[in-house]
Amino acid sequence: MKDLVFKNISVGYIPDTKVEINNKTYLIHNVIDGETISVDTEKKYPELKEVIVKSPYRIDYKVDECGGANFMHVTYDYEIKLKHDHINELFKPFRGKKDINIIPMENPYNYRNKSIMTYKLSKTKKIVCGLYEEYSHNVITANNNILQAEKTNKIINELNRILTKNKIQIYDERTRTGVLRHVYIRASFNTDDVMVTLVTNGEMFPGRNNVINDLKKANLGITTVVQNINTRDTSIVLGDKERILFGPGFISEKVSNYKFKISPKSFFQVNTKGMEILYNKALEKANITKNDIVIDAYCGVGTISIFASKYAKHVYGVELNKDAVNDAKINQKINNINNITFIADDATNYMTKLAKVREHIDVVIMDPPRDGSTKQFINAIKYLNAKKVIYISCNPDTLKRDLYLFSENDYIVKDLEAVDMFPRTLHSEMIAVIEKDNEIDELEELVKRENTKKYKENKMKYIPKADIEMMKNDKYEANGFKNKKKKY
Ligand code: SAH
Repeated sequence: MKDLVFKNISVGYIPDTKVEINNKTYLIHNVIDGETISVDTEKKYPELKEVIVKSPYRIDYKVDECGGANFMHVTYDYEIKLKHDHINELFKPFRGKKDINIIPMENPYNYRNKSIMTYKLSKTKKIVCGLYEEYSHNVITANNNILQAEKTNKIINELNRILTKNKIQIYDERTRTGVLRHVYIRASFNTDDVMVTLVTNGEMFPGRNNVINDLKKANLGITTVVQNINTRDTSIVLGDKERILFGPGFISEKVSNYKFKISPKSFFQVNTKGMEILYNKALEKANITKNDIVIDAYCGVGTISIFASKYAKHVYGVELNKDAVNDAKINQKINNINNITFIADDATNYMTKLAKVREHIDVVIMDPPRDGSTKQFINAIKYLNAKKVIYISCNPDTLKRDLYLFSENDYIVKDLEAVDMFPRTLHSEMIAVIEKDNEIDELEELVKRENTKKYKENKMKYIPKADIEMMKNDKYEANGFKNKKKKY
């Protein structure tokens, strides 16, 4: 048996289809609903051989240009439709009959301002770099990657040539020997700054000066080079120690009328254009007024705080990463703003402290990492009596979990919108508008006064914010979903 044909395949949100060969189920990647495909069964793991009947949404792509992408084989319009349907299904318990809109990007290619690549030696002993293949540590070389900034692609190709010429030793994960592990590039879109961080397996970096001199000669527009030292056996790219090899050791970026300093280890949104759209949308929805006290939780280098400061009385930005907080403080100064206070703390810790003293906050803007926020954080919002919460999320699954927690606290999800910050990948960014339900307060007071037992029995009934049946179907528990690891 060699090739097997599968007709009219069905594909979910992730562009894979399940096929059965000899009573075993395999996933075939990069296919589209309704296509007829042939599968090569002689390979160790069966894979797509030919698309016999093509979907009208299929487009051509080159594998080595598509590292990190999942939707490179479909038109962008079709990708937006898939994302739209997926999000609308996921957030059914909160949206009622309303449709959740997704804002597409004008240009879905070359938008990434941050690129991290891992080095390896090619078969002809040339130094190449690329991205890890999904679910493995195989490096797929990335020339002309469709996601990363065009200037980054140029730098990567030239840098590979320079590293090969200078016989730089590449780190080998298995033997844990060699020097150069990764390159990490941050390219600004609205200034001319570009930062190249070379991650090495120790302080020693033989050939370092030659590499720097060649890079300068090549005139690639690199404004600073940093050596980062990571001796740990880990897939985390950056180590703690840094050494500036030339330039200031950070880059500046301009977004709207604001300027931002970004250090290698600080978080910065990867899609600079998308970030502007996202922030403007979020602030439009926040509708902050001059009397409002605002919290920007998980604030990174203070970008949202700075955008919000124009409308608010005062903004408190809280962030765990000390480098990012230092950048945030500098960013406030650079932009001549004086109504923000940045605090280096765990966001939950900070919110709980404020809640204990019953501090009053008008609006909370929160933008947590992929794991989402915490139950304690969300409970604290209730005690702070915030009238409005703007929850920006890069992971719809943890957003959904957290929205259930808000629902339990008598906060209503008023609006949901998505911004396609990561075109051609499975990810999308969401903005949720959550408001305190004052009507519920009154209703609860009434019922409480009448009968506490009845109040308790009926509490679930009085939660109009999430569809209770759907909530149960989602196996929702106070501490999150049972199936915590579920990806999409
Ligand atoms: N709002 C910022 C950053 C969002 S990314 C922006 O738009 O650029 C999430 C941020 O949360 C990162 O900067 C990360 O360092 C920070 N973070 C992660 N865990 C945290 C915690 N427990 N408390 C506070 N900040 C945290």
